[in-house]
Amino acid sequence: MLDAAFFRRWMTATAASVDREAERLTALDSPIGDADHGSNLQRGFHAVTAELEKEDPQTPGAVLTLAGRHLISTVGGASGPLYGTLLRRTGKALGDAGEVSEAEFAQALRAGVDAVMTLGGAAPGDKTMIDSLVPAVDALSDGFTAARAAAEEGALATTPLQARKGRASYLGERSIGHQDPGATSSALLIAALTEAAGE
Ligand code: ADP
Ligand code: MG
Ligand code: MG
Repeated sequence: MLDAAFFRRWMTATAASVDREAERLTALDSPIGDADHGSNLQRGFHAVTAELEKEDPQTPGAVLTLAGRHLISTVGGASGPLYGTLLRRTGKALGDAGEVSEAEFAQALRAGVDAVMTLGGAAPGDKTMIDSLVPAVDALSDGFTAARAAAEEGALATTPLQARKGRASYLGERSIGHQDPGATSSALLIAALTEAAGE
């Protein structure tokens, strides 16, 4: 079973990973964006970890809804509302249970990813965070390590795609040949699950 402490570890592991990879995320956002993805997420996840300490939410759902709310309010740009919606919707789907099973979490995360697709209008293949999140939720029934591998593969597979959503889509064919920054950060988010689980 996964408790509030697990979800807190997920958020702190994501924040640490975003800190380590911020320069790379911003570098990926340079040729096909505005070179702010790393700093956007750093600002957001710093706020999330600070608020988690301050408010000390006691259920998995409360941890994720708090995280989502603060991502929305602190991250500028496209990725803030999208990541915020992902975590808020996932948290809402977990309700107020003190512990949730991995299967319940997988189902909730799918609801979160669906909400991101509704909000942003992106489908798989559009060269966005969806290209790593959808394979990750599809693989989650096989465990966190499988989800991590699927997300990383999905992020790498964005390179040959032409962007159809977000800032990168303004470049048309010139977006081809670059890995999507948001798919890359989504792979970090999913990879942090294995750290939270101690795998
Ligand atoms: P901005 O483009 O506003 O500067 P960021 O650089 O923080 O925002 O985030 C860019 C990432 O957001 C992209 O790499 C892409 O993965 C994701 N993204 C942008 N628009 C959408 C969308 N409509 N749906 C899903 N993801 C999107
Ligand atoms: Mg950007
Ligand atoms: Mg921006």
